[in-house]
Amino acid sequence: MATARSNGRLPKFQRVMVVSAHPDDPDFGAGGSIARLADSGAEVTYVIVTDGQQGGEDPTQKDSELVAIRKKEQRAAAKVLGVRRVEFLGYKDGHLSPDLKLRRDIVRQIRKYKPELVITHIPGRVLDAPMGGSHPDHLAVGEATMAAVYPDSRNPRAFRSLLKEGFQPHEVKEVWIPFWTLGDYLVDITPTLDRKIEALRKHKSQVAKPGREWDFEKFMRKRHRDVGKKGGYQYAESFKRITV
Ligand SMILES: [Zn+2]
Repeated sequence: MATARSNGRLPKFQRVMVVSAHPDDPDFGAGGSIARLADSGAEVTYVIVTDGQQGGEDPTQKDSELVAIRKKEQRAAAKVLGVRRVEFLGYKDGHLSPDLKLRRDIVRQIRKYKPELVITHIPGRVLDAPMGGSHPDHLAVGEATMAAVYPDSRNPRAFRSLLKEGFQPHEVKEVWIPFWTLGDYLVDITPTLDRKIEALRKHKSQVAKPGREWDFEKFMRKRHRDVGKKGGYQYAESFKRITV
C-alpha cells in the first residue's frame, strides 16, 4: 500500500468532528493532527460517547467522582489542542454495542455540527496492532460512526425523528481513522507534538495511575518518530483516509 504524505500541508476543512469512545481517545489517537487542523482554522468538535467510569484501578472509587474527573480532564486537553467544544453522550463505559440508538445519537451530532471531516476509531479488530486499540467500545464507536456517516447522516429517510428535532441531512466528505503504524496517510505533527503531549498530561487519571506509571512521553515520541520515518518527517500520525 502506497503511503501518502500530507506534505506539511493539510487539506482545508471548516468543520471537523472527532467521535471517540472514551475521554482521552481523541488526544491519544490524533491529538497532533487535531491541533494542526484547529490551527488551520477548522472548528473542531469532540463527541465522547462513554462516561469513562471504567478507566480506573480502584473498584471502590465512586463512579460519579471518576466521571467528573475525566470530563474535566478531557475539557482541559481539548483546550490545549484548540478544540472548540466537547459533547459527552454519557453512555456507560464498557457497555457499548454499535446499535441503532448509538447510530442515531451520532447522526444527531453530525447533523448538528455538519463536519466535512470525521475522525473515529477503526471499526474492526486489527490483529497486527496492540490490543489496547481494539477495546470493544472502540470497535462499537468505529462501526456506529461509519454507519452514521454513510448512509444515515445524508439520508433524509433514516432516523426521521431527527427531522422533527430540526436536524437536516448532511454529507460528510472524508473519514480519517488513526491506524497505529499501518495507515496510508501521514500527517506531519512535528509542529504540534509538544502540544499533544501537554494535552495527554491533562488526563492525569489515565497517564499517572498509582503503581502503573508509564513513561508515556517517551513512548509517544518514539511511536511518532517511527511513523514519521515513513514519510520523511520528524514526527507523524498515521491514518486510513477514506473519501465518502
Ligand atoms: Zn478508549
